[in-house]
Amino acid sequence: MRVVRSIPELRTALRPSRREEKQIGLVPTMGALHEGHLSLIRRAREECDEVVVSLFVNPTQFNEAADLAAYPRDEAADAVAASENGADYLFAPPVEAIYPEGFATEVRITGPLVDTLEGAERGASHFHGVTTVVTKLLNIVQPSIAYFGQKDAQQALVIRKLVADLDIPVRIELADTVRDDDGLALSSRNVHLHGADRERALALKAALDAAQAAHADGVSDATTVATRARDAMTPFDVEPEYLVLVDPNTLAPVAAIDGEVLVAVAARVGETRLIDNTILNGRQ
Ligand code: AMP
Repeated sequence: MRVVRSIPELRTALRPSRREEKQIGLVPTMGALHEGHLSLIRRAREECDEVVVSLFVNPTQFNEAADLAAYPRDEAADAVAASENGADYLFAPPVEAIYPEGFATEVRITGPLVDTLEGAERGASHFHGVTTVVTKLLNIVQPSIAYFGQKDAQQALVIRKLVADLDIPVRIELADTVRDDDGLALSSRNVHLHGADRERALALKAALDAAQAAHADGVSDATTVATRARDAMTPFDVEPEYLVLVDPNTLAPVAAIDGEVLVAVAARVGETRLIDNTILNGRQ
C-alpha cells in the first residue's frame, strides 16, 4: 500500500487503472480506523481492482472546535490497518491540499435531508462540509464505487442525493453498522468513553432494541414505539437529543409503522456525542 498526500500524485498513480477501465473503489474516512471502517475496506477489496482509502479529518464538517481538536488521530496505526485489509492507496492529504488559500466554493444540499436530525442539532453547515469534501474526494479519485456506512444513515442519504443531483458518475454502496459484542455501534469517538460512560453508551442500542421489540409486539403507533425506546434509555441516565421514527428515504416523521421506518437516535454520553439507528421492517 502506498501513502499519497498530493492530489496530482494520486491522479497520476490511478491513471493506468482508469485507462484500463478497472474498477476503482473509494472508502472515505476520517481515520482512527475501527472494524466498521475495515469492513468497508474489505468489501471494496472484494468488489474493486484498486482500493483507495482516504483519511482526512475534514475541518469544515465540525461544528465545535473542541470536537475537532479532540478527534482521535493515529495515522501510523491507520496505515497498517488499511494495508492489512486490502487498501492499495491511503490518500492522506494535508488540510492545505484540500482547502488551499483562497478556497471559496461550497457544495450545499438544501431541505429536510440536511435541516433535520443531525442538521438540526449540529447545524446544516455540518452537511455542507460533508457534501463539499465528498464532492472533492469523488472528483479527485473518480471511483466507480464509493462505500459508506449505514451507521451514518442521514449522511448516506445526503450523499446519494448529492450524487444524483449533480450526476456524479459513481455508485454508492452502503454497509451495515458494525458493533462491539455488547451492541455499541463502533465509532472513532468511542475512545473518549471512559469508565461508567462506556456502559451508559449502551443506552442508544437499548433504545433501538426496545423499538424493535415494540414493533415485534405488534405496536404500530410511532409515538408509542418512540416512548418505549426513550424509556429504555432511562436506566442508563442518558437523555436523547433526538429519538425519532422517520421515513428512511425522506426523513419525514411517520405516524404509523407501515413499511420500512428508520429509528434514529443521538445522545451525549459525558462529553461524547453518539448516534445510532435501526430500520424497522428492514434487514438489520
Ligand atoms: P468516519 O471516519 O466516522 O467519517 O466514517 C467513515 C465511514 O465509515 C462512513 O461512511 C461511516 O458511515 C462508516 N462507519 C463509521 N462507523 C461505522 C460502523 N460502526 N459500521 C459501519 N460503518 C461505519
